[in-house]
Amino acid sequence: MNLIPLPAFNDNYIWMLHDGQAAVVVDPGDAEAVFEALQQHGLKLQAILVTHHHGDHTAGVSALRAATGAAVYGPHQERMPEPLTRLADGDTVQVLGLTFAVLEVPGHTAGHIAYVVQPPGQDPILFCGDTLFSAGCGRLFEGTPAQMLQSLSRLAALPDVTRVCCAHEYTASGLVFARTVEPENQALISYQVQVSQLREQNLPTLPSSIGLEKAINPFLRTHIDAVITRIRQLDASACDPVSTFAALRTWKNQF
Ligand SMILES: [Zn+2]
Ligand SMILES: [Zn+2]
Repeated sequence: MNLIPLPAFNDNYIWMLHDGQAAVVVDPGDAEAVFEALQQHGLKLQAILVTHHHGDHTAGVSALRAATGAAVYGPHQERMPEPLTRLADGDTVQVLGLTFAVLEVPGHTAGHIAYVVQPPGQDPILFCGDTLFSAGCGRLFEGTPAQMLQSLSRLAALPDVTRVCCAHEYTASGLVFARTVEPENQALISYQVQVSQLREQNLPTLPSSIGLEKAINPFLRTHIDAVITRIRQLDASACDPVSTFAALRTWKNQF
């Protein structure tokens, strides 16, 4: 299985997984980017997976469905381009001979879902939309800090080798904030060097991995003493995991 990020708009990635003949795409906000990739690799689009309702993730769905007949899957609780198969936590989808597992991860939006798949002989892949970014997480447009913390904890519990396919290239700016939170974190310092080298060549910093994110992403580290201490310096009322996470997210919003 081949995994490719298709750049779209300013900083979106539409993720494509293909076996040389058939393809699945995740969150096609832009149909043109997908049509080009299908043509370039000689692929037939078999399915479209959507994580949440925002236009930069859904705007290409109808054109792609109409042109290719691809099956469309998305969250059961959100406004979606119909028709589609709606998915809830624990559901699975069979595409390309693979089983995609569905996790509900509310926070960025109320019904946001993520997909996990393990191609034979390869590391698992997580398509997490706008829930988890490398060195960051999605803004809380519709959910609460408690929901988002729970959602991120579920993703952090996936195997360390899981490839993390985020829907935006936000890594470099996420790292600037992450280093402000944890200036002494050595893993963060070396990852920032690696990321700036990739971005100088205009290359994607993704996929990341769950193991890497647990080492460098402050939003997965609100149980770590250095992060708790830093947050309490700013907000003395942050005394439990949810209030620590909420204070960190508020800080990032204002950063
Ligand atoms: Zn979004
Ligand atoms: Zn987005």
